[in-house]
Amino acid sequence: MKFENSLEFAQKLDQIDPLKKYRDEFHFPEINGKPVIYFTGNSLGLQPKRTKAIVDEVMSDWAQLAVEGHFYAEKPWWDYHERLAAPLAKVVGAKTAEVSVMNTLTVNLHLLMVSFYRPTQKRFKIICEEKAFPSDQYMLASQVKFHGFDPKDAIVEVKKRDGEHHWRTEDVIAKINEVGDELALVLIGGVNYYNGQVFDMENITKAGKATGAFVGWDLAHGVGNIELKLNEWNADFAAWCSYKYMNSGPGNASGVYINEKHLNNPDIPRFEGWWGTKKETRFLMKPEFEPMENADAWQISNASILAVAPYLASLTMFEEVGMPALIEKRDKIVAYLEFILHEIDAEVDSSFEIITPKDRGCQLSVLLHGQGKSLFDYLMKNGVITDWREPNVIRLAPAPFYCSYEDMYRFGQLLKKGILSK
Ligand SMILES: *Cc1c(COP(=O)(O)O)cnc(C)c1O
Repeated sequence: MKFENSLEFAQKLDQIDPLKKYRDEFHFPEINGKPVIYFTGNSLGLQPKRTKAIVDEVMSDWAQLAVEGHFYAEKPWWDYHERLAAPLAKVVGAKTAEVSVMNTLTVNLHLLMVSFYRPTQKRFKIICEEKAFPSDQYMLASQVKFHGFDPKDAIVEVKKRDGEHHWRTEDVIAKINEVGDELALVLIGGVNYYNGQVFDMENITKAGKATGAFVGWDLAHGVGNIELKLNEWNADFAAWCSYKYMNSGPGNASGVYINEKHLNNPDIPRFEGWWGTKKETRFLMKPEFEPMENADAWQISNASILAVAPYLASLTMFEEVGMPALIEKRDKIVAYLEFILHEIDAEVDSSFEIITPKDRGCQLSVLLHGQGKSLFDYLMKNGVITDWREPNVIRLAPAPFYCSYEDMYRFGQLLKKGILSK
């Protein structure tokens, strides 16, 4: 399709957008009395309007039933989280038994390290990407130290090449092969938070497993954004948060995937609590731990229902729409945004550079040469919510559920004004 940088053209794309009715299903913050142009669905997704009713249901069950809500609520709390596994498994390309919802992302990564990072003197190294999301870096370093190793020896970062803004798959795989039988674990963010790159998870998983290591993925920026086939790729584990592309509310519950071959495997240890025991006998309060036969065996505490309820609301939307339709719109709206950026770049003769490679999901990261943070401030003041990363990058994620083509056009006009006003 040949794009045009005009309001009429953008509105035409909106009219024929199969997902157009979903824009109305979200609450938009307003700036200057108008709904914002929201580019930060990669950080905190907008609130779906249907979420409130599901949360209110929990609140009124709690008010009316108190403890009895565990068994007699509209959706009983004792197995509430189980409702999420099947729709979520579809989103991440897993079997229902391989998926569970619990805790928060970094906490779950730590818990999964208990199972999948068990270093020996010979095999103790971890491969990750350079400049991984800080929480992941802190998590890895603290785990390595906990096991008595020095992060300087144990953590091997795959670097980008000089002058390049993305990682090359061949460099990741070469590093895996180089570390070889010293490699205990590969743990990478499947979609990089900074440049928006989608890693070749299939081939990296294959290479990591060929050395005898475990391979896990942090999918904070992947879930609800790109096509995932965790089971087919044979990943050992993955974890993600629910508040970015999955629109489940600030700090809300995380999801985990544990490959089916590790379920009920006595060689895989884990930290345990009562919510991981067989639900039929859980309340007999027996001294021995009888694990659930699915990923729920990794559950520790009783589920935080008020955190899980918004995730359930969000998943009903993913069920209705399905990832293929979301991905189709994602590709089109991101391509349109890219087109607009190039148009504006040419019109104002400025220089900015899209550093996101072709393997991408919903996010374009734009490196500004020349304009500084004042441009970002101008955009924010004029109703564009985007984010700024040092030294000079704005990240734009037009989430396909609720962003419109008209948003992209209007953003382009504001960008132009912002650049010319200086
Ligand atoms: C957003 C994000 C996190 C956030 O971790 P929390 O434990 O949910 O605070 C962690 N890792 C990555 C890669 C992220 O993108």
